[in-house]
Parts: sequence; C-alpha cells; structure tokens
Amino acid sequence: MRIVALAGGIGGARFLQGLRHAVPDADLTVVVNTGDDITMYGLRICPDLDTVMYTLGGGIDTERGWGRQDETFVVKEELGAYDVPTTWFGLGDRDLATHLVRRTMLDAGFPLSQVTTALCARWQPGATLLPMSDDRVETHVLVDVDGVRKAIHFQEWWVKHRAALPAHAIVAVGAETATPAPGVLEAIDAADVVLLPPSNPVVSIGTILQVKGIREALQDKRVVGLSPIIGGAPVRGMADACLDAIGVETTAEAVGRHYGSDVLDGWLVDSKDAGVTVPDVEVRAVPLLMTAVEATAAMARAALELAGV
Ligand code: GDP
Ligand code: CA
Repeated sequence: MRIVALAGGIGGARFLQGLRHAVPDADLTVVVNTGDDITMYGLRICPDLDTVMYTLGGGIDTERGWGRQDETFVVKEELGAYDVPTTWFGLGDRDLATHLVRRTMLDAGFPLSQVTTALCARWQPGATLLPMSDDRVETHVLVDVDGVRKAIHFQEWWVKHRAALPAHAIVAVGAETATPAPGVLEAIDAADVVLLPPSNPVVSIGTILQVKGIREALQDKRVVGLSPIIGGAPVRGMADACLDAIGVETTAEAVGRHYGSDVLDGWLVDSKDAGVTVPDVEVRAVPLLMTAVEATAAMARAALELAGV
C-alpha cells in the first residue's frame, strides 16, 4: 500500500509512529510543513522536518516532543551570557550538529529536499521525508506589540509569546509562489490514500495545502483526516489561537468543515465528538488520544479503514 501523509511537528510525528506500527510494510511518504522554518545564527532551522525525522528515527526527546534525547544546552547558555535577544529559542548541542550539516549542504547549493535525504541516511526514519517545497515559505503573524501593529515570525509568536498576543492574520509568506518539492506531486499521484494526521490545521496542514498544486492534487485521491481538536480544545499546544485568527471555531466539526469535502473524503473525530457532521464527508468517531504507540496504531488503522484501503 502506498500512503502519503501531510504533517506538522509533534502531532504529525506521533501519528506517523503509530501508522508505521500499524502497517510496517506500507510505502510511506511524508510531506512536511516548512512554514515554521526560520534562520537564526545563520542556521536554517526546520522544526517540523527535524521533529518527524528524530521521532521516526528514534532520536527524539519523548518528554519535550522536540529536539534530541540526552540533549545538553551548553551553547544556548553561552549565547545567553552574550545577552543575544533570541535565547527564547532552544537549540541543543546535539541538535546543533544537524544544523551545521544542513547549513553546509545548503551553502554548497543542495536544495532542502536533498539535504533532508542526506540527514535521513543517518536516521533511517522508515519513510521518505519530503519538505513541502524547496522554496522559502515563512509563516508570519500580524499582532499588536506595544500598540504597534506588525508582522512577526510564527516562531516568535508561538515560542516567545506562547501565542498569547491575539493574531489579526496568519500569512504563509511565499506559499503562493512556492512549488512542491521534487517527488511531492508524484507521491500523491501514486498514493492509494492520503492521510492528514492530527496536525495543526492552520499553520501545519493549512500551510502545506497553500503550496501551489498540492490541494488540487488531492482532489481525486482518497483523503482521510484526523481531528487535532477533541471536545472543543486542542489536545496539546495552542491551535485554538491559530483557528481564532482565521475565524474557525475550535471544534472537530468546524475544522472538518474548514477542510471540507474539497479536501476530505473521511474525517475521524474522537468518541467525545460523536455526532459531528461535515457535508459530503464520511465522519466516524473513535478514540483519538495518542497515549501510547498501540493506541495511535489503532487510530491509523481506523483512518485506513475509513479510507477503504
Ligand atoms: P507542531 O508543529 O509541533 O505544533 O505539531 P503538529 O502541527 O503536527 O500538531 C499539533 C496538533 O496536534 C495540536 O493541534 C494538537 O491538538 C494535536 N495533538 C497532539 N496530541 C494529540 C493527540 O493525542 N490526539 C489528537 N487527536 N491530537 C493531538
Ligand atoms: Ca510546527
């Protein structure tokens, strides 16, 4: 079976772990959001790509959900001693090696997709990881800071301000001209099923869907999504702040309707949300808490069953 999944960071990565457990022999391609990427200290930081790579490759810090296990933060402390203004962003010492390799390869002229393949040669994630695009796309958030309206990078809003500043708009700068990375449209075309894990519907999946041609490519595919919203709240993180910004209610029903039958054939919601309806989309309710890999694998099986594959 050929499966394509579109994914953000933590929610996407955890789901993919369960999916691999459920169907170890499936041919899995993951199209990963790069709208969260940011350049800091000259390094290109790709949080979602690295979270998926480390999670599937067995190198993730499972408590934090991002970065490397057995991590130390000596460089971060040293940066703090210089009073640099960006110490709100954690970059561990082990993680730094990944970023030095990425910087070196990007400087040598390799596109992000090839850099990702090279990094995955070490991590062996058991899936083909593709950035959604090799072109630069960066999500910015329009906020008021000390009475002045300005756009700040998504990471600054999310990590530094914990999404507490109300967002007037969220814009994936560059998405409208970005083209899918090599292999993305080919993988979707060849897929038996496309899954939308319970990733952030605005800044993860929503951003991927804005890259030219990806939404259109899903049109004649079997597509099943899993709700990241349970009982009117995100399971983790602050997706409600993102949904507020685009005027979508934080409910499994509103997110399903937001994707709509244009994208979805099936929508899996949590048992708590049984009764949700989305026009022209088959909705099923099953437990959707990724408490352990076995529970997550059951979610993946339910998604494949709903897709009819
Ligand atoms: P990020 O890039 O790290 O923010 O990760 P994603 O975009 O991939 O996923 C974030 C989303 O995952 C959040 O909106 C959470 O509500 C959702 N999520 C996290 N854990 C669970 C879970 O156990 N079940 C479900 N259904 N959603 C979850
Ligand atoms: Ca992310």
